[in-house]
Amino acid sequence: MLIRNFIGGKWVNAKGEKTFSSLNPADIRLTVAEAPLSEQEDVDLAVGAARDALAKWRLMPAPRRGEILFRAGGLLIREKQRVGELVTEEMGKVLAEGLGDVQEAIDMAFYMAGEGRRMQGETVPSELPDKDCKSFREPLGVVALITPWNFPTAIPAWKIFSALICGNTVVFKPSSDTPACAAALVQILEDAGVPPGVLNMVCGSGADVGEYLVTHPLVDAVSFTGSCAAGERLEGLLGRMHRPLATEMGGKNAIIIMDDADLSLALEGVLWGAFGTSGQRCTAASRVVVHEKIFDTFGEMLANAAAGLRLGNGLHKTTDVGPLVNEQQYKKVLDYIQVGIDEGAKLVTGGRGVSVGGSVNGFFIEPTVFTHVTPTMRIAQEEIFGPVVSIIKCVNLDEAIKIVNDVPFGLSSAIYSRDVNTTARAERDLKTGIVYVNASTIGAEIQMPFGGWRHSGSGHPEAGGRGGALDFYSRMKVVYRDYSGRLQKAQIDK
Ligand code: NAP
Repeated sequence: MLIRNFIGGKWVNAKGEKTFSSLNPADIRLTVAEAPLSEQEDVDLAVGAARDALAKWRLMPAPRRGEILFRAGGLLIREKQRVGELVTEEMGKVLAEGLGDVQEAIDMAFYMAGEGRRMQGETVPSELPDKDCKSFREPLGVVALITPWNFPTAIPAWKIFSALICGNTVVFKPSSDTPACAAALVQILEDAGVPPGVLNMVCGSGADVGEYLVTHPLVDAVSFTGSCAAGERLEGLLGRMHRPLATEMGGKNAIIIMDDADLSLALEGVLWGAFGTSGQRCTAASRVVVHEKIFDTFGEMLANAAAGLRLGNGLHKTTDVGPLVNEQQYKKVLDYIQVGIDEGAKLVTGGRGVSVGGSVNGFFIEPTVFTHVTPTMRIAQEEIFGPVVSIIKCVNLDEAIKIVNDVPFGLSSAIYSRDVNTTARAERDLKTGIVYVNASTIGAEIQMPFGGWRHSGSGHPEAGGRGGALDFYSRMKVVYRDYSGRLQKAQIDK
């Protein structure tokens, strides 16, 4: 499949005519797509097109913009199977999750389309007669969107749909691991009727074109999802430019399991949270903090269940866990497994990179469980982003909450307990942007804001409406209208 950039409503090669390959991580002999290796000139063209399209798009009534997103939602439903399979082929997650990735984009399309008829500001009484005070939302302008590979349809959809409904124009730089998924989404938006120049896509390296794009003088705001290393670099660069930046970054999410929990339910939650998407979710459960009374029992249950998960190509019905996305990620996860062993944690299952079906052409790592992990070990502190979970012992709820909170991240956490007083205290005291009760650390829904605290994000959540994405992609303008025909002085006239 040959992918092109999408600039000013046209699919075009990179000016330099260079390309790079996107490989199937379940079998790297298979090339999923050739994509343009863009350079700065391509970014200039995309930003220029977005700038030119802004004047008209920002004035299109938001409900009309919403109608385009409604059409996009309908097209995504029609194309769900095809795009879901593409997600699996290009980044490896099992098909049910590939389809879930597309479903999230469908949900977001309809939700943001509806926002076109809400998008509230406020009207409040003035302290003076014959005067009113109102606020309304205005777009930021041209926004640059930088996305990772682990949700190659959903995360771009979160950002693009929110940006568009607010009246911004977009330059989108997808992950170099998933250009084909990105192009499929952009094609659907083109087919839905997004006017030329309103949405532009430039593929290429983050360090080169990504960084050039976000610091481009004609870009007004940036939304980034990805690693802490890249996100914090952008925070430094853009902070100096006083340019609005939303970052969603890493996590070190934990599930607490109390001694009164339904252990079978908790086991299902841990398996889903730790090994879904091969552990490559920002909200993946990579720590399980278990009450000492059930520590040995639960450790054994988890090790047995993890050992029974079947690795393989995500398109095959028998597969529970797919490959890691690329060689770099594969090596990083194996390095972390060695770190855990060297730190003295007990490896109870998994731990190896494996060959599936006699082929060594995919990046597969066995679902891996460490027990007797202490809270300060590196495997309990740093984001691994792979199918590796650490079990940590606690004596009571206070200690469990302290362990969960004592990491640099604050994205997602969960607690399993049958006692409402216990779970209520956890809801109150866990320092993460998202808390789940009797459910895993993954499974956010798009109608609620999604965002991490501390090193997990800059505090501008994705998704949701007010209090969420709309608050980043639009800014409030306040208008005081005086129709008294005389000078009225606030705070002075009575
Ligand atoms: P990444 O390496 O930081 O890449 C993310 C995106 O940023 C890619 O498009 C990348 O381009 C680009 N990029 C890299 N360096 C850049 C720079 N200096 N300037 C501008 N753009 C740059 O992250 P990833 O490996 O794709 O994703 C995994 C990470 O994302 C994990 O840490 C995960 O926790 C995090 N994540 C967070 C959330 C959340 O909502 N909190 C959701 C999903 C993932 P290239 O692909 O060309 O390098």
